[in-house]
Amino acid sequence: MAQFDLIVIGGGSGGVRAARIAASHGARVALVEEYRLGGTCVIRGCVPKKLMVYASRFAQEFEEAAGFGWTLEAPHFDWATLKTRRDAEVARLEGIYRANLLAAGVQILEGRAQLTGRNTVALFDGTQHQAAHILIATGAQPTPGPAIPGHELAIDSNGFFDLQALPRRVVVQGAGYIALELACVLHLLGAQVTVVVRGEQILRGFDDELRQHLAAEMARSGLQFRFGRHVQAIARDGHALQVQLDNGDTLAADCVLRALGRAPNTHGLGLETAGLALNAHGAIPVDAYSQTAVPGIYAVGDVTNRVNLTPMAIREGHAFADTVFGKTPRVVDHALVPTAVFTTPEAGVVGLTEEQALARYPRLDVYRTSFRPMKATLSGHPGKMLLKLLVDRDTDRVVGFHGVGPDTGEMAQLVGVALQLQATKAALDATLAVHPTAAEELVTMRTPAVRHNLSP
Ligand SMILES: Cc1cc2nc3c(=O)[nH]c(=O)nc-3n(C[C@H](O)[C@H](O)[C@H](O)COP(=O)(O)OP(=O)(O)OC[C@H]3O[C@@H](n4cnc5c(N)ncnc54)[C@H](O)[C@@H]3O)c2cc1C
Repeated sequence: MAQFDLIVIGGGSGGVRAARIAASHGARVALVEEYRLGGTCVIRGCVPKKLMVYASRFAQEFEEAAGFGWTLEAPHFDWATLKTRRDAEVARLEGIYRANLLAAGVQILEGRAQLTGRNTVALFDGTQHQAAHILIATGAQPTPGPAIPGHELAIDSNGFFDLQALPRRVVVQGAGYIALELACVLHLLGAQVTVVVRGEQILRGFDDELRQHLAAEMARSGLQFRFGRHVQAIARDGHALQVQLDNGDTLAADCVLRALGRAPNTHGLGLETAGLALNAHGAIPVDAYSQTAVPGIYAVGDVTNRVNLTPMAIREGHAFADTVFGKTPRVVDHALVPTAVFTTPEAGVVGLTEEQALARYPRLDVYRTSFRPMKATLSGHPGKMLLKLLVDRDTDRVVGFHGVGPDTGEMAQLVGVALQLQATKAALDATLAVHPTAAEELVTMRTPAVRHNLSP
């Protein structure tokens, strides 16, 4: 039985970072991966998705170019070329992950791992490995959703990346960021897309005004929404599919994409043999140091269902390795999370929503501007941006930023720095504008659009 200081199960964002940093602190580390190194983000998440987003946005750029004097032959898009080039880039990144792990001295074990005790891990080839510490970083996977008739005819986000051709008509089920991002990609590349949403609005948990603005912009761009509807059944109809809604409507489709959320990847991990129980969300409960209830076993990333984003998994993995092997105990702040939604238009956010902010700061000022970006003056693009800042009047601190429109994801990163530094509105006002940009609005908004004054 091979002996290690640390066995990491899962070679995704969190696991790879933890393994490399632990090895750099001198630990003997093995990392087990059952599929491909890089995990969800690199293989079938953030990276290939963003490449598809870039591809899709050219459609709009070609149209807008005419207003600036360009004449283009009718542009033609070839899915197979994009897929081949995207897959090659993903394979290149996977190679870099492998090389970096090996360079750090991490032993890579290929196969599916299962706990067989507090300190032991078995691979499906029958080999057994022992370590003083085990890190579970197995991520999450798409939830199948309710088992409606014909559900097996639908694909999930993993299946999206395997599509061999652009489907002509697509029904997307779901209203989270993954459903919407993939819907926009397909729509801009030329598919006719209908998004079926169980509730009355997209992006639950985001700022209400951002949700409304983004949904309106997506609808204006030609994406069809069916709010308050369920998919009841999917049936084959020759080469096509028929999607039946709960109000009796039937939608013809060539592809049904179900993006109904993700669940922690714990099935068949043998957690019970180590004495580990799951919480109500099916995730592995951990403390601030990513330590589970069982001494020596830790968990980071999506499998813990804290903040399910790549930078958080990386940070948790790094903090774990520093704490356990680097003699530097570190906890991760899960409160301030800058993030982007790569729909078109995109959205960028950091800090509290207006609804959350009001619960904490009754004297809240809302600075808001909605405008057509300068490029639209000649391109004729009708889309409007939204930029919104939330300020606690008592301390003058900026407590939230919500943006919809080009580059708002990039803005969220930098506003995130300001919020991390506890910036006041006065500090933003004192910052000189970069002109002409859309972001300059963030330092030139003078008068609150709304002044909340809730009695305590
Ligand atoms: C379509 C999509 C788009 C996304 N876009 C973004 C984005 O734009 N920005 C962002 O920050 N996040 C995004 N995410 C989320 C991000 O991918 C995850 O939060 C991140 O990958 C979590 O990292 P992790 O290390 O916890 O798990 P993962 O990256 O999922 O890695 C887990 C690894 O464990 C392996 N594994 C599982 N079980 C076993 C086992 N028993 N034995 C061996 N190996 C095992 C898996 O094969 C996998 O490689 C996106 C996700 C999806 C699906």
